[in-house]
Amino acid sequence: MTKQQKELLSERTNEHVYHCAKCGLCLDACPVYKELLVESASPRGKVQLAKHIIEGDLEISKKMEDILFSQCLLCGSCVIACPSGVKQNELFSGLRWRTAQRHGMPLAKKLFFQVLSRRWLMSTSSWFGKWVRKIFSGPAIESRIEVGNLPVSAIPPLNDKPFNAAYPEIVMPEDEIRARILYFHGCATNYVFADVGKAVVSVLTNMGVQVEIPRGQSCCGLPIFLSGDRKTAIRCITEALGLFARDDVDAVIVDCATCGSALRHEYAHILRELKDLGEDVSEDMIEKAQLLQSKVRDVSEYVAAHMDWLAAMPSRDGARKIRVAYHDPCHLMKGQGVTMQPRTILKSIPSVEYVEMEKAGTCCGGGGEFQIEFGDTSALITNRKIGYIHDANAQILATGCPGCNITIRAHLDKNKNMQVLHTIQVLQKSIDGTLDNFIDSGITAD
Ligand code: SF4
Ligand code: SF4
Repeated sequence: MTKQQKELLSERTNEHVYHCAKCGLCLDACPVYKELLVESASPRGKVQLAKHIIEGDLEISKKMEDILFSQCLLCGSCVIACPSGVKQNELFSGLRWRTAQRHGMPLAKKLFFQVLSRRWLMSTSSWFGKWVRKIFSGPAIESRIEVGNLPVSAIPPLNDKPFNAAYPEIVMPEDEIRARILYFHGCATNYVFADVGKAVVSVLTNMGVQVEIPRGQSCCGLPIFLSGDRKTAIRCITEALGLFARDDVDAVIVDCATCGSALRHEYAHILRELKDLGEDVSEDMIEKAQLLQSKVRDVSEYVAAHMDWLAAMPSRDGARKIRVAYHDPCHLMKGQGVTMQPRTILKSIPSVEYVEMEKAGTCCGGGGEFQIEFGDTSALITNRKIGYIHDANAQILATGCPGCNITIRAHLDKNKNMQVLHTIQVLQKSIDGTLDNFIDSGITAD
């Protein structure tokens, strides 16, 4: 093992480069490769580049930085396609970290991550952002301003107040308590999709679940550490472990695919890698990450496992059926292996006609800030996906990721009159008997 190999990534991450048989089975799974058709964009190509970097034959140059960031969404599609068990995501995110250390990152990104990782800054910024948007609102202005490939007019408004301000820390079910859970609501629900949070609380308490919403929770840290800023992300990880690594609850429920993937897999890996590399990470932190990992469940997973607990069942009112399709978020399908559970929920709703759309599991192209930084490549992937979604001809597209929700709704043909909702919102609206009205109103989901 060379000196550089020792210094860059941990041994357990390095070893993945030697498992690659160069078979190419990951190429067809990679959304970026399918659009750019160059070997450096393929997972196989990047694994080979990683091998040369790790062995010291290649420098972590600016060119390498460009490949690692602009030619990969870290969607994980290659990980599940690889017959040799190569964890490309761990290799690529590790190299992004080293690249960011060597070359730095753009100031705007650095500042954004500082805001994201501090609850009070995030809260103040969202309040400020809401008022700025109100002052400069109006389709004439908003449709002309774009963030990456997203017109500002297509980005949902910020919540009037943070989601968690509308609830006490512990929400009790009306009848007997069947289980106690902690709810990690993440930034998206707290600041943008309050209705998703309300649906989660409503469905879980209906099931007899006591929902604890710990105060003081902030970003899961995934957008930060996947961009290479592990130092800032450690603040988020430490906070989350302090609040959620608890043995006295039945589960930690997450409504965001990305947060779930971070809590479930990434924390333990990153902490272990940092410790292996001699950074200041205690064994206690790693044990906490492993405890948390064992408790995390996506909300669709938890609800599907306990459908018999529902006190009020989905409404059978309304003679017509509403066509619903489902999009698999990468961080739920590839990151957590959750695919059947959201479908089980949707198919159990009497007023839903479930439509399985073609390529439900392909990436939407959003990739967090990927669509902002690399809008052209992102748009190619998104346009392909939107074609499949339109072909499904559904009235509602259900999904389990706020990022996918924003990307997809921004690019849907408005004439198709399709709404995008979280899976649990579809269930909650059908329990409340408001699904029909929601469709009739033609309003954009929020
Ligand atoms: S599928 Fe796995 S083994 Fe095959 S080329 Fe891709 S990374 Fe290498
Ligand atoms: S993580 Fe996704 S985008 Fe990156 S190489 Fe793998 S399949 Fe391609």
